[in-house]
Amino acid sequence: MKLLLHACCGPCSLEPVRLLLEEGHDITIAFANSNIQPSEEYDHRLQTLLTWANEEGIPVVDFPYDPAAWHEFAGVIQLTGGPRTERCRRCYHMRLEEAAAYAATHGFEALSTTLAVSPYQLFDICHEELVDVCDRWNLTPIWQDFRPYYPEATRRSREAGMYRQNYCGCAYSKAEADAERAARKAQRARQNAEREAAEAHERAERNAKRAAYDAKQRAKKAARNAARAAAKAEAAAQAQPEHATMQHIPSEESEEA
Ligand code: SF4
Repeated sequence: MKLLLHACCGPCSLEPVRLLLEEGHDITIAFANSNIQPSEEYDHRLQTLLTWANEEGIPVVDFPYDPAAWHEFAGVIQLTGGPRTERCRRCYHMRLEEAAAYAATHGFEALSTTLAVSPYQLFDICHEELVDVCDRWNLTPIWQDFRPYYPEATRRSREAGMYRQNYCGCAYSKAEADAERAARKAQRARQNAEREAAEAHERAERNAKRAAYDAKQRAKKAARNAARAAAKAEAAAQAQPEHATMQHIPSEESEEA
């Protein structure tokens, strides 16, 4: 099928592209991601994707970057206190809608997205939005669970030295990812402190037991030495008076004299 593949970034494209090519699809990549902030980050992700796609000979359509429009449509949910699920649903919808409109007007038959490789995305909501835009633009949605291939995508992208971002894309997701990382770090520090305290306690107990054992052994040895000395002294004392009596008792002969 002539397939337009919406791609969120280079690393997430590796495995879906490999699998979809194996299935015989004719792939063009659509970089439609006005959610990414700041603009330097957008450029970095786009350049990473372009470099790789160029090496692979896969065409890329670079959509206009319009973060203000994204904020008006999806980011606004955050400001009104809406849930992340709704913010992300709108975000998926906006990006896939742009890609679907392009696909339908440029001879494509099907639409898919690399978002289905990331375990961090809202899989079912993303699927619903893909099906919705494809229905309206008369395209075939190609939806597969690429998530089992995420570790391989991570390995390959690391091996290739690709830039790998550590947050989804919008400024809210960056703040959320930073907070989650800080919470994980604090938890690790707490666990380390608890483990070290437990180890120190065990060490102190072991040392106290050893010290008590050593003291007991020393006391036993001292008692043994004292008993030996006492026995020796007693033996010496018993030997001494016999000798003295022999010297001082007068003989019967001398008494008679
Ligand atoms: S977290 Fe990701 S999917 Fe959700 S709104 Fe932000 S950029 Fe879009």
